[in-house]
Amino acid sequence: MPYHRNYCAECGWSASTETYSRKEVVSRAIEHFTETRHTIEGEHTAELDQIPLNDAR
Ligand SMILES: [Zn+2]
Repeated sequence: MPYHRNYCAECGWSASTETYSRKEVVSRAIEHFTETRHTIEGEHTAELDQIPLNDAR
């Protein structure tokens, strides 16, 4: 099952929907940003969602 992960570009913080609900991941990411002003990156592991470069003709 694909999952969504948010992680910090500046420290080791991360949260994923493997551990938390999607809502919790988002609110934890916002919380981390609010506390630290670090940049939060998002990562989506749904390989089936995004089939890359098949449209290049
Ligand atoms: Zn951080």
